[in-house]
Amino acid sequence: LPSTVDVVVVGGGISGLVAARRIAAAGPSVLVLEARDRVGGRTLNHTLANGSVVESGGAFVGPTQDRVLALLAELRIQTFKEYAQGDNVYVANGLPPQRYTGTIPPDPTILPDAAVLQTRIDQMSQQVPVDAPWTAANAADWDATSLHDWIKSTTVNPNTAKLIESYLQPLLGADARDVSLLFFLWYIATEGDERNPGTFERSAGTSDGAQDSRIVGGSQLISIRMAQQLGDAVALNAPVRKISQNGSTVTVTSDRGVVTASKVIVAVPPPLVVGIDWDPLLPPKRLQLLERMPMGALMKVDAVYDTPFWRAAGLSGMAVSDTAPVRVCFDNCPPDASVGVLMAFIGGATWADWGNRPLAERRAGVLRQFAQFFGPQALNAIDYVEHDWTHERWSLGGPVAGMGTGTMLRYGSTIRQPFGLVHWAGTETSTYWSGYMDGAVRAGERAAAEVLG
Ligand code: FAD
Repeated sequence: LPSTVDVVVVGGGISGLVAARRIAAAGPSVLVLEARDRVGGRTLNHTLANGSVVESGGAFVGPTQDRVLALLAELRIQTFKEYAQGDNVYVANGLPPQRYTGTIPPDPTILPDAAVLQTRIDQMSQQVPVDAPWTAANAADWDATSLHDWIKSTTVNPNTAKLIESYLQPLLGADARDVSLLFFLWYIATEGDERNPGTFERSAGTSDGAQDSRIVGGSQLISIRMAQQLGDAVALNAPVRKISQNGSTVTVTSDRGVVTASKVIVAVPPPLVVGIDWDPLLPPKRLQLLERMPMGALMKVDAVYDTPFWRAAGLSGMAVSDTAPVRVCFDNCPPDASVGVLMAFIGGATWADWGNRPLAERRAGVLRQFAQFFGPQALNAIDYVEHDWTHERWSLGGPVAGMGTGTMLRYGSTIRQPFGLVHWAGTETSTYWSGYMDGAVRAGERAAAEVLG
């Protein structure tokens, strides 16, 4: 490793690599220190036996995610539409599977509640400034209330809350009781851009929503291409252990050596920032914030079939259920549909139970539910792949770090505040699409601009 560079970037996920690329393009020398033996962080490609690629981490992109879409175009990586033709399947209340279209299952027992929830979530989230949610007029009340308590007080039928978990568990790797109402409203508000406010519909939707499209070749390609362009400026197997600063220089100690720089950008998930030995110590208010931002618990499972047999039956491959382990699943076939792939998220409370059972039991449970949704052919998987992000030393979970009650209001304002010569990137610091690949790009661009400015 060089002993001195202008800027060190800690973390070779999308955010850190975007920052490094911007800085390198502007002239200063840059070095990315990445802990793993690969780039991409919370994005990870998995190659199936026939050579097709599926993603074990981040995968979907959609409208208003302008920065990641621009980056994809720049890197000449194509997208394709998530398969959304035919009917979705809904299984709840012990009743037989029901076909439906659209985002919200047509369950007469929950529809009135769902309509009220959706309207109120959209209205309230529009009162939350994406760059300063702690300044919302109702911030104090909303941050003192868990999303769970608010849903309970806003709905009539307890099944509505149960169904909402099927949406929250993949969204946050957490449940309504784990996050404050303010955090959730802010999260929805960020799922848009300067012209289009975030909405529940865009958050939960497939076509025209956050699950609109996928990436040809898999989303890890974004980081792989950027790292290729950066060449020797990316050092793998280089976990950063210590960051010291004295006012004019920053010294970064990694397993591959010590590097001195005039600026550092840290682009790692919040709990991993806390894991670094800081000298001087992080500002106490920021430390308190980061210590209150646990990663979600999420795993992805993929069952592979000879063909996407559900498509022939007029089904989209998307299903929502109130029963574990598969609360929600999607068609995850490669663009040429050369094999059929069904993908399920297992997150939050469902992860706490099913994520910790023996693999064979989980596999059997997943396939049994796929068969319930799409027919007995779903039992004949030719391959089964799963990835549990809570087992990842350098992610500690996924897809994002959340905030429970009392965190955002008291400590949130430190989220992007530079600490001496250290600046912050990483999707959690973005003001739009925080928690997503687009947020990672935006945060990397902002941090680079701060350093270059
Ligand atoms: P990361 O990807 O976490 O990168 C941080 C990097 O820092 C990692 O490479 C890590 O190894 C490294 N690091 C950590 N500690 C150190 C250290 N001490 N020293 C050096 N390096 C360190 N997003 C979407 O847009 N669409 C989706 O469909 C979607 N689905 C998801 C599904 C799952 C299962 C998961 C896990 C995530 C999903 N996401 C999705 C989220 C998306 O993947 C992330 O928001 C994004 O990849 C985060 O990028 P990042 O660069 O901010 O952080």
